[in-house]
Amino acid sequence: MTGGTDNLVTLPPESGEAMHRFIAKLFPLCRSITGNGVRATLQAIAQRIPLTLHEVPSGTPVLDWTVPQEWHIRDAFIKNARGERLVDFRQSNLHVVNYSVPVHATMTLSELRPHLFSLPDYPDWIPYRTSYYTPAWGFCLRHTQLAALREDEVYEVCIDASLEDGALTYGDCYLPGIIEDEVLLSCHVCHPSLANDNLSGIAVMTFLAQYLQHCPQRYSYRLLFIPGTIGSITWLARNEAHVEKIKHGLVLTCVGDAGPFTYKRSRRGHAVIDRTVPYVLRQAGLAHEVIDFFPYGYDERQYCSPGFNLPVGCLMRARHGQFPEYHTSADNLQFVQPVALETSLAVCATLLATLDGNARYRNLLPKGEPQLGKRGLYRAIGGQQHARTREMAMLWVLNYADGEHTLLDIAERADLPFQHLRQAADALLEQGLLADCGEESAGALYSSLSPRILEQSPSPSHSLRVRGDKVI
Ligand code: ZN
Repeated sequence: MTGGTDNLVTLPPESGEAMHRFIAKLFPLCRSITGNGVRATLQAIAQRIPLTLHEVPSGTPVLDWTVPQEWHIRDAFIKNARGERLVDFRQSNLHVVNYSVPVHATMTLSELRPHLFSLPDYPDWIPYRTSYYTPAWGFCLRHTQLAALREDEVYEVCIDASLEDGALTYGDCYLPGIIEDEVLLSCHVCHPSLANDNLSGIAVMTFLAQYLQHCPQRYSYRLLFIPGTIGSITWLARNEAHVEKIKHGLVLTCVGDAGPFTYKRSRRGHAVIDRTVPYVLRQAGLAHEVIDFFPYGYDERQYCSPGFNLPVGCLMRARHGQFPEYHTSADNLQFVQPVALETSLAVCATLLATLDGNARYRNLLPKGEPQLGKRGLYRAIGGQQHARTREMAMLWVLNYADGEHTLLDIAERADLPFQHLRQAADALLEQGLLADCGEESAGALYSSLSPRILEQSPSPSHSLRVRGDKVI
């Protein structure tokens, strides 16, 4: 097999469209770090996957932080003297600085101006602003709206919101595998009507959990749907004793746009996940960039804080903060595309299958090459079309199965699709030519799973769509 997106797992048909519909359903909700927008989002996710909702009371100390109050918003507007709503929360929840304290006052434009935010370079877009940890209020508006406000007018300003003791809500989907070692996946659920930043990660992770539910797994999987920063800090504070189970992890964000992929390495830099993601993208022939860890961004900065230093990277398409639509009303339902979501989901499913199937073996006949023909191994491992690649995969596995190299090591070195090495190892195991080295070993277990996980024949419609998304 040559490169290309054939090396990604097959998804159910129309997965991209289904994810886009899910995003459209969640889009109107006014999420924040706390409150009913997050709850409603988690409840919608819970209709699709087994999700445990956790409520952590306001005021609870979590690491160096404290769980904040709950924010609820009912309405907000700026009205002119004739009572016309010039800025209206009902039109877009981005119009209010998220987590604003309540206000109801009349004021002149000069009094109001310090509370107004617009984007002069993109005069038709509404910016997204927050003020979580400093009590403040404000409005975000199109620059064209701001330009139309008059110095000689008095405005009625109202943010009908409340901040009160309640809870921080997060969702935890745990899918037990054969072993207790875990793969952690995490996305933030705290942004209001923004599609790529926030909802694309939510959709891909939800559908990934659905997918994993239908494939038996070796690892256990933990998928966290959490408010950014305070959510991961809260989860880490409550699960400090648990984190040693996490062997690989990934934060998902901005995975619905049409741009090339970006993988941000974990702080460790050379963790297995840091090699697996670039390897999968390379084998799929998808344009991508790999960047080193830096201590800002999304929740990877908490998982990778030095006291935890977990092997958690971050997968994105457009890099957060680096595309013009980021944190604006232009990050909308048109900005995320079904085909891009589908490729992102396929990449995630493939890299989890790779992690799950990675193993370390020892060749039991290491002196000279074992004679494969007399064991029927050529015939056992596939038809004519890929026979040569599969034969090569067996030779690679036999040579490097020395108890030191994992299948991923060999796959990288051989520049072959992982599933070929996995299938070669399965065939060699069956013939008693390999011994399982225990640690990190998927062994015979994986061989019973691989036909389902790594199906090789995508339906024509699916493979066409995926190819269409290939970024040059
Ligand atoms: Zn964001």
